[in-house]
Amino acid sequence: MNTTVLTLVSQLSNQEVVARVKLLAQRECEVTAAPIAHLAVLDERQLYLAEGCASMFTYCVEVLHLSEYAAYSRIEAARAARRYPMILDMIGDGSVNLTTVGLLAPDLTPENHLDFLEAARHKSKRQVQELVAQLRPQPSVPSSIRRLPTPSLAAENLAPGNLPAPTAALSPAAEAPVPARRPFIAPLAPQRYTVQFTANAETHAKLLRAQELLRSQIPDGDVGEIIDRALTALLKDLARRKFAATDRPHESDTDGPRSSRGTVRRSRQIPAEVRRTVWTRDGGQCAFMAHDGRRCTEQSFLEFHHVVPHSAGGEATVENIQLRCRAHNGFEAEMFFGRRNDRARGTDDDLSMTTSSTGSGPSNSLGAAFTDPLPTNPPDLTD
Ligand SMILES: [Zn+2]
Repeated sequence: MNTTVLTLVSQLSNQEVVARVKLLAQRECEVTAAPIAHLAVLDERQLYLAEGCASMFTYCVEVLHLSEYAAYSRIEAARAARRYPMILDMIGDGSVNLTTVGLLAPDLTPENHLDFLEAARHKSKRQVQELVAQLRPQPSVPSSIRRLPTPSLAAENLAPGNLPAPTAALSPAAEAPVPARRPFIAPLAPQRYTVQFTANAETHAKLLRAQELLRSQIPDGDVGEIIDRALTALLKDLARRKFAATDRPHESDTDGPRSSRGTVRRSRQIPAEVRRTVWTRDGGQCAFMAHDGRRCTEQSFLEFHHVVPHSAGGEATVENIQLRCRAHNGFEAEMFFGRRNDRARGTDDDLSMTTSSTGSGPSNSLGAAFTDPLPTNPPDLTD
């Protein structure tokens, strides 16, 4: 059955696939809302008891065969929807998903639910966590460092949650059995975050050194303050090296013959002043615009893109250069040169590009999108 569906979908045009996916996603939202409404009533009447289950959770897992996560999130949504029925409408039209409801539900009140549900409309999990931090501000956590009980005694852990002595914040604490954790960032309150990561011995030593050198400016050696200064310097350096952004542009930033507009004619080299202007104008974000006006939000793996390719006479001017993420730079090169002309595609990229060109059907010009790796922060898993 599913093989048949896949065969049928494979025969659709790109436009038909995109249109149908949007329609099916909309239907999926509508279909999600209906069982939650029924679960809300089943739960209220405790109908699971007569069905041989001691709880709603058991009923959902053992009778409906939902996964534990699916059961939990649906019961949570059903109970929230009983209190605030507009949640069902918002799930039904795709304004909020079950993860959003789960994050917000514990803090919703008759007074605030309208404002916060509206604010959560179409928001990402991270954005909803920011809303929760507004609803339920957490106190700031002091900076601290703890030694992790890992096989490598050199490993250190910067972990919030421990109260350090003000001037001895970097002394390894006693051998507390702290499990190694993945890097962690969470909003505590508006404009405040807790950050936790595992550092190696070298990083720890650098931090100690920075504390010593900054003692007169940061007497308590606050790690957050030091990290902020380090990141500010890092970002400035990265912008200068990658995108030629600087407060003091030099005439020698460009090479090759200059035109009256300050650009290099017929050179593949993009002058630093063009890079600076383009980077600032595009806001450090991919400037690809979809046909419906949606702009790509990608801010990493950015490359300088010739709107008219260099090989087709496009010049390295502010007007002809835009920022692109790697995927869209490759996508537009494919659009211009055709998928199989990889050599030609390579000539349009200003930075090295390793976009995969495999994994799509012969008529599928959206191939790059199908071969993209998953994002670092995976989307909400509702099942
Ligand atoms: Zn993009």
